[in-house]
Amino acid sequence: MKKSANITPVDFTRRRVLLGTVATIASAPLVNVLLTPRAIAAELQHLSPDDPTAKALNYHNDASEAPRADRAGTPADEQFCHNCQFVQSQTGDWRPCQIFPGKAVNANGWCSSWTKAG
Ligand code: SF4
Repeated sequence: MKKSANITPVDFTRRRVLLGTVATIASAPLVNVLLTPRAIAAELQHLSPDDPTAKALNYHNDASEAPRADRAGTPADEQFCHNCQFVQSQTGDWRPCQIFPGKAVNANGWCSSWTKAG
């Protein structure tokens, strides 16, 4: 077969860069799926009740030791981090919380910001 004189050579270096960029962009959602809140929580430092903000909000790792009171129709003994609207995962013993960014709270903990998850 005779080659056409109008065919330009393919720039493989440029093609590799473009394919690499496309692959990186395409994999971003996969990374987000893999980095679930549970996976993120595993990387987070556990919130200490001695943390100044935790103290200010009466955070306890064990809700039964916290000064809970009935709130908005939810009895005190049914209030935990795992059913609070601010917790950011449905699984795991330690979970991210919007009130304590960068820390993980105990699923059975409690603080005075507790609000029933909707
Ligand atoms: S805001 Fe909710 S999830 Fe976060 S520490 Fe307080 S009770 Fe727990």
